[in-house]
Amino acid sequence: MKPLIVANWKCNPITQSEAKELFDSISKGIKDIENAETVICPPFIYLSLLKGLTLGAQDCYFEEKGAYTGEVSAAMLKDLGCQYIIVGHSERRKLFGEKNNDVNKKVLAVLDAGLIPILCVGETEQEREQEKTEEVLKAELEIGLIDVHDVSKVIVAYEPIWAIGTGNPCDIEEAQRMKGIIQKMVSKNIRILYGGSVNSENAEGYLKQAEFNGLLVGGASLKAKEFIKIVNRSLS
Ligand code: PEP
Repeated sequence: MKPLIVANWKCNPITQSEAKELFDSISKGIKDIENAETVICPPFIYLSLLKGLTLGAQDCYFEEKGAYTGEVSAAMLKDLGCQYIIVGHSERRKLFGEKNNDVNKKVLAVLDAGLIPILCVGETEQEREQEKTEEVLKAELEIGLIDVHDVSKVIVAYEPIWAIGTGNPCDIEEAQRMKGIIQKMVSKNIRILYGGSVNSENAEGYLKQAEFNGLLVGGASLKAKEFIKIVNRSLS
């Protein structure tokens, strides 16, 4: 299966013209690449402007429609052309108080809408120091996947929180060990991505040595040249 390279733009950029420019530069740079699948996850408001690459969203609400001011549902995102939705990103968990049960409702809503959830899991530095990493991942996966009948329809992203946006990526050997642990906790058929300070220098190691099925890229996906390099280095 082709590696899946997912760009999480987070709350960037500020203007529509910058979003279009970044998207167009990435599109141009990867248009001839067939051996990797690339997904761009911009802020909701840019989704309808961007055409030509596979799109994903960074979050969704778990109800389909109704009196939920400010929320956006998986069905709406599907209608806008999204194929993937990131759920349970550590920033949502930390800054917006999302718990494993909320994340589970979102995973189910995304599947119900016929889209692919990218379920983010990962431990904080403190949890790692206290040797609670496996316990944390187990809870995130077990609760996150409650009532999911076919887990092969879900993608898991292992994102150690201490590695996100810090420039301190997880050691390749350690990432490989964590991939094995996660794979044992879930079905053999599930695809597992690595995320956390991925750049064009380390991308290949996570895919080829640590055998992840793809990458979730934050900061580096906002620089077209760097992101294109990452996609190029991901080819098998
Ligand atoms: C992320 O936000 O999912 C992420 C991995 O960010 P970064 O690549 O900047 O560490």
